[in-house]
Amino acid sequence: MNAPAAPAKKPAGRAGRNLELPKHLKAYKGVWVFIEHDRGHVHSVSWELLGEARKLADTLGSRVGIAVLGGANEPLEQFAAEAFTYGADDAYIVHDPVLQGYRNEPFTKGLTDLVNRHQPEILLLGATSMGRDLAGSVATTLLTGLTADCTELNIDPASRALAATRPTFGGSLLCTIMTLAYRPQMATVRPRVMPMPLRDAERTGNIVHGTLGMVETDIVTRLLDFIPDASSNRINLPYADVIVSGGKGLKSPENFQLAFELANVLGGEVGATRPCVQAGWVEGERQVGQTGKTVRPKLYIAAGISGAIQHRVGMESADVIVAINTDPNAPIFDFAHYGIVGNALQVLPALKQAFVEHLTRRRKQVA
Ligand SMILES: Cc1cc2nc3c(=O)[nH]c(=O)nc-3n(C[C@H](O)[C@H](O)[C@H](O)COP(=O)(O)OP(=O)(O)OC[C@H]3O[C@@H](n4cnc5c(N)ncnc54)[C@H](O)[C@@H]3O)c2cc1C
Repeated sequence: MNAPAAPAKKPAGRAGRNLELPKHLKAYKGVWVFIEHDRGHVHSVSWELLGEARKLADTLGSRVGIAVLGGANEPLEQFAAEAFTYGADDAYIVHDPVLQGYRNEPFTKGLTDLVNRHQPEILLLGATSMGRDLAGSVATTLLTGLTADCTELNIDPASRALAATRPTFGGSLLCTIMTLAYRPQMATVRPRVMPMPLRDAERTGNIVHGTLGMVETDIVTRLLDFIPDASSNRINLPYADVIVSGGKGLKSPENFQLAFELANVLGGEVGATRPCVQAGWVEGERQVGQTGKTVRPKLYIAAGISGAIQHRVGMESADVIVAINTDPNAPIFDFAHYGIVGNALQVLPALKQAFVEHLTRRRKQVA
């Protein structure tokens, strides 16, 4: 005789875990942005994130805070004053000589200590080299969830959790991830994915100073020198107003010169699709798309580019997209504002000529 089957155990959550926010985490309030700065300049992605933080905090009815860490003499209070004009209410500042120049260990300690003390509900960082490095170690130390490279941030009305949307399955789908049972909810966003918020020069806020409690001998890494990457300093694709991008339709690295010539006349930059970068036609810094840069120019000229989703996600926020393609059915024509069906090897020089003539006429009128 068979024994009766034992009743199935009811799982506490989809993964067998309890997804209710534990009571002690309900005290977490406020939306924070980590302010990234380097040699006296705040990275614009921090201001872009402040715009999002303001939106999220207004939905939650909470405050916006910034966390800014740096060396003893770095102008962190000045950065805080600027952050207030972009929508921050409170600035949590830590000055310490070991925070001069980014290193993972002291920044992780400084930021995790601030989070543990002041308990923000949401913590946003730029998906830059520094932000990616720091976000991973902070999330691991705090034992919380991190959604990387988000393209959209919202508040889920049912749970009031951060609904962080990002591409998945090679960019063919978007998924929305929520951290329901842990705090803070962390997310990174790439530069230029979010628009710059408007400044209100009259806005001010509160400054709270913290301490690090770490000395140089506690840290295994030493910062000996800073050697900037020559190409990344030269090519500033995410913040270019005009981009002329080339794809495989340009056929050869030599033909990319046509894109450079047009970009030069328009005072813009040159971008490229991934296959062109992989073929060694142009530098990796020029790649636009899911695994390249996200751009938001006023004008994006796409020459010989099919318009694959992995390219599109990096450039679809451009104000005006002009596509040049021999194939009238190329997917890029589905989302370009203007389409030219033609050979890019002929259209690019013709556009260059037309712009040269136009700009010469304009200069003569002004003179
Ligand atoms: C995980 C993953 C990540 C990826 N990340 C990126 C990314 O970040 N960025 C990116 O760009 N891609 C990325 N890709 C690759 C992407 O899927 C496409 O393969 C790529 O964008 C296509 O590049 P293309 O448009 O240059 O080439 P093709 O798709 O080969 O298109 C060439 C186009 O040129 C046109 N053409 C041909 N001759 C001419 C001519 N003489 N004049 C005008 N038009 C002409 C053709 O009609 C065609 O539409 C990724 C793929 C994967 C799987």
